[in-house]
Amino acid sequence: MLISINDIPARGLRLDEDATPAHLLLAPEDGVKGPVRLQLFLDRNGTQVRVTGRAIARLATQCHRCADACELPLDAEIETCFQPATDEDPVVDPEDEEAYGLSHYEGDLLDLGPLLRDGLLLAVPMVHLCRPDCAGLCPDCGDRRPANGHCECPASHERALSANPFAEFFRRQKSG
Ligand SMILES: [Zn+2]
Ligand SMILES: [Zn+2]
Repeated sequence: MLISINDIPARGLRLDEDATPAHLLLAPEDGVKGPVRLQLFLDRNGTQVRVTGRAIARLATQCHRCADACELPLDAEIETCFQPATDEDPVVDPEDEEAYGLSHYEGDLLDLGPLLRDGLLLAVPMVHLCRPDCAGLCPDCGDRRPANGHCECPASHERALSANPFAEFFRRQKSG
C-alpha cells in the first residue's frame, strides 16, 4: 500500500477507504477478514510524515473455550512517524524503532502495508471467546455448556453427585 509523499498536501491527507488483507501483506492464516476499514490521517512536515488513525477489521478464529468458529472485532490504533531512509542513519535496533513509533521510506514512496499489518496483528486479543460468558465444553459429553457452566447431561450429573454425595440426599429430601 504505497503513498507518494508528493500526494500529501500541506493541509494533510485524509484516507478513508477499504483495503483487502492481501493488500496489507496479511496472509490467510493471519485470519484477518476484509474489508479492512482504514481511517488515516497523513500529516507532512518537510520530509517527515506522521500517520495516525485506525484500521478496523474482523478476525476469523476459533473460541479458545468451545472451539466454535467465531469472529472478533479488530480495532488497531495506528501511530507512526515516517522518515526518509538515509545512509547516515544511525543503526537502530528494529525493536527500538517500533518502540519510538518510527518507520522509514525510500525515495518518495511510503509503504503503509507493514505498519497496518503490524497494527492489526498487535490488536489481536490474547483470548478468543465466541461470547464473553462462553462456558466451554462439558468434559463429560463434549457438548457446549450453558452459561452457568453446569451441563444437564447424565454423565455430568453423575460426576457432580460423586463429588458431593450429599447434594442428591438434600435434593430428595426437598422434593420428598
Ligand atoms: Zn465459545
Ligand atoms: Zn455434558
